[in-house]
Amino acid sequence: FDRMKKAVTRTRDSFSQSLSAVVALTREVDDASLDDLELALLASDIGAPTTQEIIARLRDRALRQGISDGAQLKQALKSEILRILDAVAHPVAHPATPPEVIMMVGVNGTGKTTTTGKLAALFRKPTREFPEGRSVLLCAADTFRAAAIEQLEVWSQRSGVELIKTKQGGDPSAALFDAATAAKARGKDILIVDTAGRLHTKSDLMKELDKMVRTANKIIPGAPHQTLLVIDATTGQNGLQQARLFTEAAKVSGIVLTKLDGTAKGGIVVAIAHELGLPVLYAGVGEKIDDILPFEPEAFVDSMLE
Ligand code: GDP
Repeated sequence: FDRMKKAVTRTRDSFSQSLSAVVALTREVDDASLDDLELALLASDIGAPTTQEIIARLRDRALRQGISDGAQLKQALKSEILRILDAVAHPVAHPATPPEVIMMVGVNGTGKTTTTGKLAALFRKPTREFPEGRSVLLCAADTFRAAAIEQLEVWSQRSGVELIKTKQGGDPSAALFDAATAAKARGKDILIVDTAGRLHTKSDLMKELDKMVRTANKIIPGAPHQTLLVIDATTGQNGLQQARLFTEAAKVSGIVLTKLDGTAKGGIVVAIAHELGLPVLYAGVGEKIDDILPFEPEAFVDSMLE
């Protein structure tokens, strides 16, 4: 009875305490404090397999090198999380000859269309690598979801970027064919393609995405250069399961994690790296055009543990 009571109290406590609070309260690193930390990691959406690996490595470190207090535990935890994030990080290689084609995939409602619009505006801005910003063309190939095309039209006006579309119910590959041809003819630097997020079966999804890849490739060799999978941070482990279908159906190169403003459970970033083997490249933090940030692992881990 005592053990159960303790477990329940601990569960409740670690749900109400953040990860950082657990670390701050740790005076001594022992089985009980590692149990607390395990619950806090699970509560932050890091997921069971990733949590188990982190805890096992921390236990091992504590035995070998000794971790004596909360401050050292925090440092060790930070380096374990960064190790997982760094393992999947890779620099984005832009093609020698533009246009660069970026395909957006993901389940409906995750924020795919919104992210497509935000990215268009972001890529137009000057950066150190592209001091004059880059020219962008949008392709509305989500011909399945009602209103997706109109929605992208609004984003294209907001971001001052041209849009190529067909009507709802049309063939997404036909829209992409037109858009790729136009991007090339108009000398655009980037073409961003919003695709449909329907989830009938994996083989349907695969067929549609395959056809789009072949179409893009015919006009622009090497396209798509990036395939970004959009995941809604508020859907936690369920979102991760759905995302798996897309990583099996397409060659996903990176993740955009949306709605991070709507959750305190940032641990999903670590689960994505560990379970999907993919880096989070951008984070969505609101519904407005500027609410997108290039993802920085170290700053993120610091904010998780601060
Ligand atoms: P799609 O079906 O995947 O294309 O999803 P939408 O782009 O239509 O987005 C679904 C809803 O999520 C909309 O109400 C968006 O405003 C909202 N949304 C998208 N990204 C974010 C984000 O980063 N933060 C918040 N709070 N809302 C977002």
